Amino acid sequence: MPVFDSRSFKDHEQVVFCADAETGLKAIIAVHSTACGPAAGGIRFWDYAAAHKHVAPSDIAESRGEQDAVYDVLRLSRGMSYKNAMAGLRLGGGKSVIIGNPRKIGTPDLMRAFGRYINRLSGTYYAAEDVGTSPEMLAAAGQATRYVSGLDAGEFATGDPSPHTALGVFVSIQSAVRHRLGKSDLKGVRVAVQGVGHVGLYLVEHLIEAGAIVTVTDIVDANIEAAKSKGDVTVVDSKTIHAVDCDVFAPCALGGGLNPHTIPDIRATVIAGAANNQLEHEGIQDEDLRKRGILYAPDYVVNAGGIISVEAEVHQEKVSDAEREAKVLRIGDTLTKIFEVSDRESRPTGVIANEMAEDIIAKAAAKKKQLSSAA
Ligand code: NAD
Repeated sequence: MPVFDSRSFKDHEQVVFCADAETGLKAIIAVHSTACGPAAGGIRFWDYAAAHKHVAPSDIAESRGEQDAVYDVLRLSRGMSYKNAMAGLRLGGGKSVIIGNPRKIGTPDLMRAFGRYINRLSGTYYAAEDVGTSPEMLAAAGQATRYVSGLDAGEFATGDPSPHTALGVFVSIQSAVRHRLGKSDLKGVRVAVQGVGHVGLYLVEHLIEAGAIVTVTDIVDANIEAAKSKGDVTVVDSKTIHAVDCDVFAPCALGGGLNPHTIPDIRATVIAGAANNQLEHEGIQDEDLRKRGILYAPDYVVNAGGIISVEAEVHQEKVSDAEREAKVLRIGDTLTKIFEVSDRESRPTGVIANEMAEDIIAKAAAKKKQLSSAA
């Protein structure tokens, strides 16, 4: 597979492959950009070979899984640069993946071995929680390095980012509803939430409090029960949530949900949710949605609340809850700008957001270069 010339590798500063035979660690750290600050992004722990095991012998499945892992980490780290830039953070973009099933191999020893690799980067990359990693696993990595954030304990610990992410999704929905439906509040607005896990559940609380009419789904019964305990919600099957007759579709489960199979059935006029990489293909599905009159709020702008919460921890600073909340609320204004440019230029919101992010990163890189040549 070509790496240096691939679109996903484009503009990456550094990619590190890590292995530790004793614990079975196989991991990749991708640093896309440090133009705006140290690269920050979560550790994804995922069994990439699993999807190939039913169609290929195990050695081929392993090799295909590793290729998927490379592609995933590169795409995710670039996404983090864009997310952090659009949120106005002093953070660059990076991401790491650990290859394997976290339930089988995710021991504290393995996490400490990975922590030692993060430490070797001397603060170029700050890790946080992501799919497959837990606060306990982060704490284990944190025994070997101080470049771990989103911790539960410690002087600058910022704890669970999910409530902040949910607040960001909520203000994004408000911003998109104002723009598309001309409504200044969410009273009576019908919202379908796909996935009521950490973020989705907090989002449901905000929506109910704002008077929205909420439909939910999940594949875990206990999570549906938790959503029902928050107030009056309608529950639908997970296979039909995207097709619910509603105003807003909020994907808060996994990525890739906006694809040629689902888009023709979507009846919402606004899409705004927490899930990363909602579009199967950037620039294709967002254009399709635009042509269908559906306003898509770019996912990495919408779901920046969590990393906004973590920023101060990376910089070892104390910020008040009010300061942090103010930053999260600004997500709504950023989206309004994106929507306005998209309308004016008849171009997809996802493409507009990417261009804005690339511009911020390019300007920061130029400033950094100027400062270092002046020094
Ligand atoms: P989570 O795992 O707690 O919640 C996801 C929920 O979706 C779970 O309840 C799961 O059962 C459900 N689900 C999975 N597949 C489903 C399907 N096909 N249909 C319906 N429900 C399904 O994760 P989370 O922390 O709430 O994050 C949700 C999404 O937001 C993820 O894509 C994550 O990457 C993204 N995100 C989260 C944060 C954060 O602060 N937690 C920040 C940025 C982005």
